[in-house]
Amino acid sequence: MQNNDLYVIYGDQPKKMIMHLLDDIKVADEIPKDSLIGIKPNLVLAKPATSGATTSPEIIAGTIEYLQSEGFKNIIILESSWIGDSTVRSFRVCGYEDIAQKYGVELVDLKKDSSNVFEVGDISFDVCSKMLKLDYMINVPVLKGHCQTNMTCALKNIKGCIPDREKRRFHTLGLHKPIAYLNKVIETDLVIVDGIMGDLCYEEGGTPVTMNRIIIGKDPVLVDSFVAEIMGYELEDVPYIEIAEEIGVGISDLNNANITEYNKDEKIRNIDPPRSIKHLTEHIEEKEACSACYGSLVHALDRLHNQGLLNKLEGKIHIGQGFKDSQCEGLGVGKCTENFSNHIKGCPPKARDIIKFIKK
Ligand code: SF4
Repeated sequence: MQNNDLYVIYGDQPKKMIMHLLDDIKVADEIPKDSLIGIKPNLVLAKPATSGATTSPEIIAGTIEYLQSEGFKNIIILESSWIGDSTVRSFRVCGYEDIAQKYGVELVDLKKDSSNVFEVGDISFDVCSKMLKLDYMINVPVLKGHCQTNMTCALKNIKGCIPDREKRRFHTLGLHKPIAYLNKVIETDLVIVDGIMGDLCYEEGGTPVTMNRIIIGKDPVLVDSFVAEIMGYELEDVPYIEIAEEIGVGISDLNNANITEYNKDEKIRNIDPPRSIKHLTEHIEEKEACSACYGSLVHALDRLHNQGLLNKLEGKIHIGQGFKDSQCEGLGVGKCTENFSNHIKGCPPKARDIIKFIKK
């Protein structure tokens, strides 16, 4: 697997999907035997993955099952929930205690860990010591929004690897620069993005949007650049990605990325969006839309809403497999609406493409 490789698989069975993906990419071939492998999920607080806030335990279970089937025995899960929440409680509520018991892996509460000081450029900060002992680090963030940094994914997930006092200080330093610099110290070997059901706006969940996908890559900058596109953000909307690139953490250029899509998400959406995003979904005319497609459109409409453009939209936007044979005047999203007078390509399309098209 090369640094510029990205793999995407769609569906709603995370454990099966991740096991298939890891096996097909042959991730085990790049991990030295007897390595201490650390898995860093996002358990920002004690809420289940269906809230949109935390990493699906099924993805973690599938990852461990794959690694153990390849003979890896030293696997630990590390996390420190946000300030004010107990990591131990998050492990329990999010289903990680059951995983630890089933697979015999240790849960490490980084809030109780010692720390080491590092200097990167003009910033110095403490990093949890246990993170520095890993031979191979698997970063498993959630694809979701964030009220201060717009989005949070691979690079920002590493903020859970520092003591609470440093988390506080990162906010006084403006978040973006310290997040980027922290990734210079804590290096990610593999990113597995939980894009099954992340939150539209908040890292603590509450407005979950089904996106039905898992993304794998090695470079956290490239992964975050790809996720920004999926969520409809430009790189300048998420400054820590550009800062991380400037200091050599990775490369954001999607034009030189090898993107492999394993399948198409053709599962018809069966979860109604929360009432809190009704102001977005009332612009949508849906017939049997896939979750991945619908999720992209919801993210795009949220960006347009935040830019004050949503109320300028005339008519509804059509989406879904039920429009496959329809020849209509109006705007359609995705390949299924290719016979509409205006349609946005993709199956599923990315939120950034939807935004660009609608603005034009
Ligand atoms: S274009 Fe059609 S088939 Fe493709 S993701 Fe959208 S709704 Fe599903």
